[in-house]
Amino acid sequence: MRRGTIPGSSGRVRPMRLLGDGGLGAPCEEVADFGADLARLVEDMFATMYAAGGVGLAANQIGVPLRVFVYDCPDDEDVRHLGHLVNPRLVSVEGIVVRGPEGCLSVPGVEAGTPRFDEAVVEGFTMDGTEVRVRGTGFFARCLQHECDHLDGGLYLDRLTGLRRRRALRAVRRAPWAVAG
Ligand SMILES: [Zn+2]
Repeated sequence: MRRGTIPGSSGRVRPMRLLGDGGLGAPCEEVADFGADLARLVEDMFATMYAAGGVGLAANQIGVPLRVFVYDCPDDEDVRHLGHLVNPRLVSVEGIVVRGPEGCLSVPGVEAGTPRFDEAVVEGFTMDGTEVRVRGTGFFARCLQHECDHLDGGLYLDRLTGLRRRRALRAVRRAPWAVAG
């Protein structure tokens, strides 16, 4: 296989930012420079996502406050979706709202049934500046909405209510990585 055909194979695994890190709670900035640094960032993000066993990763999860995310995620029909988006905008969410299990690499070991639209469309660019439109359904739609939330400074925990929220926050407090206070 030709070198560089696997996303992330030349990337560097970066430290994961965990809940409590200020960068996760702040909106990311638009990418203005579609150059070599951006290509390297995308490579590092794939490497970091695969190393952590995730299906999606936003740039602020590795401490880079830019509007970029990567994904390698199945939908409910087991079709694999692999790609990255720069300056993505969630242009539509449709269908029924489904509550399904959701976790986050920045909140390791915690999972909660989280409501999401069953269909999502995101528009943005690839790292070379090509416009792209990505449509997802099922679990992949969930992933797209989850990553867009990250870039706006949000976490899936923000979308939980009631007992599910209390349970998840309790699990967060008890997590071995939790920051006291
Ligand atoms: Zn996440």
